[in-house]
This record gives sequence, structure tokens and C-alpha cells, in this order.
Amino acid sequence: MDWRTKLLNPTQIARQDYNSLVTPVYRGSTVVFDDQSSIKDDWQQSEKGYSYGLYGTPTTLELAARISQIEDARHTFIVPGGQSAIALVYFAYCKSGSHALVPYSAYGPNKAMAEGLMKGLGVEVEPYDPMVGKDIKKLIRKNTTLIWCESPGSVTMEIQDIPEIVKVAHQKNVPVALDNTYAAGVLFDAFKFNVDISIQALTKYVGGHSDLLLGSVSVRDENAYKTVGPIYMQLGLAVSPDDCSLALRGLQTLALRLDQLEKSTLEVALWLSKNDMIDEVYHPALDTCPGHDIWKRDFTGSASVFSFTFIETISSKEVQEFINSLNIFKIGLSWGGVTSLAVVYPDLDRPNKDFGGRLVRLNIGLEAVNDLISDLDEAISTIRL
Ligand SMILES: *Cc1c(COP(=O)(O)O)cnc(C)c1O
Repeated sequence: MDWRTKLLNPTQIARQDYNSLVTPVYRGSTVVFDDQSSIKDDWQQSEKGYSYGLYGTPTTLELAARISQIEDARHTFIVPGGQSAIALVYFAYCKSGSHALVPYSAYGPNKAMAEGLMKGLGVEVEPYDPMVGKDIKKLIRKNTTLIWCESPGSVTMEIQDIPEIVKVAHQKNVPVALDNTYAAGVLFDAFKFNVDISIQALTKYVGGHSDLLLGSVSVRDENAYKTVGPIYMQLGLAVSPDDCSLALRGLQTLALRLDQLEKSTLEVALWLSKNDMIDEVYHPALDTCPGHDIWKRDFTGSASVFSFTFIETISSKEVQEFINSLNIFKIGLSWGGVTSLAVVYPDLDRPNKDFGGRLVRLNIGLEAVNDLISDLDEAISTIRL
């Protein structure tokens, strides 16, 4: 063999029996088959064997299997981010002429997809009050093919009565998809409550360190598996095995991080609730949070993200000054990492309430709580003067 050929056809290879404690990063697009007749191009790699990197390498499938086991799902699809998880569900369950329901407290880009891409494709996505409960029945039509839930809702933190919504939806044969990112797939047991599809932005708690973007779509049963799988294949939602490797690492410390974040976040929320510059604190474990009783009934814990509003005499401009004078809290989007973040929502769009630019959302990280509280205290005093 010419040395050029040897470069691509090595005869000496390293031992392959390295039984690593951690999942190796398998990179690769092409899978090599033994002979022509064994070639396949099938997304069901877990059952039928590896076919192509687009549907995941062993690193991706290992992450999928772990998420699936933790959530007790039939199967989990790993996708490039939480938003692509949302897109996959829309595409799998809606077609031209479909009607879908989404709570108006849903993640903003979910509503943007509803109003943009979905509307353009002839799908009507109707916003509904997240506190609707069993009255969702009145909103279900003959052509309703999907009901979204997200609990707590993004930014305004409404806890939904998922068991009631699922019960009514299933009476009418409508599948329910839950954005379960807040609960990290563990603080709310989606499949115990018979949700059909549970999605997560793994970007948040599973990744846990603000250094990756990934999402998951977990399905309850064979029916959902066969509905989502072909669309997952058609959309070509490939992910990086390196990111999956980081997410696998993140899973190992998820319990520790969630425990600490729950404690620190509650302390900060309670401190804020006693401050006379603060009006409402929307934290699921406080009774000022809409749906707090449902949270107590259905959740096993709370996480690191919550919101609060300043009293009405504080202007929207002063709230921005408050945000700008924080030091330990960084100003930024997303959450679930190790760093505390603050962001103000100046034009939050909710049909039943005008927050007047006085709503702030915090993500609590792993810093010492006393330092976080001092940071908030000092920033509040700059606007009190
Ligand atoms: C962040 C987030 C998403 C989107 O996740 P990305 O990975 O950033 O695309 C979806 N749903 C919720 C509730 C989120 O907070």
C-alpha cells in the first residue's frame, strides 16, 4: 500500500476494549455496514441498529436513554435545543387545518412559532388562560390536534392543573404536550400524570453550566413514538456528540445542583417577599404564586427561576436602574446554570394584567445566598433614594 492509502486504511489499531467509566464521545456521520444488504437508513436506531449519524451516535443515544429512564418515557429524542423540541412537536401533531392550544404564559418563542411559522402553514394556534383547568373542554374543537402546557409558565410562573387538562383532553382524544423544562424532567412526573409528550430545554438544568444548547422530546407510548419519529427524521435535527457528552456530565450532578438551587432560591424569594419595595413574588412555593396549591399537590420541589414585581410607585425606568446596579447578578437570558441572572421584561404581554415594566425575573445560581441578598438590597436602595 502507498502511504497515502495507509493513512485511510490502517492495519494496526489500538485495543478497543477500554471500558471507560464515562460515555465516550462518538463522532461520525457515516456508519460502516458489513455488506450491501445490511445497509439501512432508519431513525429507529435503538431497535434496529446504527444507520447514520443524523439520528445520533452512541453518545446521543446514551443521553436519550438516560433522560428516557429518568422521565420513565417510551423513548426520548435528543434535538438541538428546547426551541427545536417545540418545533418537532408542532410539526408532528399539526398540519394545515389543525387547531392547537397554547397557554399565554408559554415560552415566548413557542408563541412566536405559533403566530409565525404555524399560522403561515395554515395551523391555528389559540392562546388560552393557563389557569383554565377543566374548562379547557370549551376550547377543544373537532380539529384540535394538540394542547400545549407549560407549568410553571415562563416569567409569570402560573402552575397549571395538568391532571385536569389531560383528563379532559384525553376524553376528546387530543394529545397533551408539556414543556417540562422548569422541573428538569424530575420535579414534575409528566408521564405519571399521563401527559403524552414531555419536552425539555436540556440547555437549562441538565446542561447546567450555560455552555451548551440541547433539547429533548420524550414520548409516553408507542403511538407518540411512531408519530414523532418520522418527523424527527424528516427534519434532520442532528446534535453534536460533544454537547451530548457535556449533558451526560451535567446529569451526574443534577440532584446536587437542584437541591442547593432550591434552598438558595427560596431564601432569596422569601427575603424579597418581606421587602416593602416589592409587590408580588411569583415563586411556586409561595402562596402568592398563581396555582401554588397545585404545585404543592403535584410537584416534588421547586427550582431556581422566579419573578417578582416592584410596587406601583416605582417606575419602569427605576426598575431598569435597579437591574443595572446589580453586581453579582449578571444581566442575561436563559437560566438553570450556576450563575445568578436578572432580567426585566419591559413589555410583557399578558391579556389579564399590565405589569408596567415592573416585573423582574431572577435565576439563582450557586453563589453564597448572603452575597446575593446584599447585591439585591444595595441595588434596591439605589432606587429608593
Ligand atoms: C429556554 C427555554 C426553551 C428553549 O430552549 P433553548 O435550548 O434555548 O432553545 C424552551 N422552553 C422553556 C420553558 C425555556 O425556558
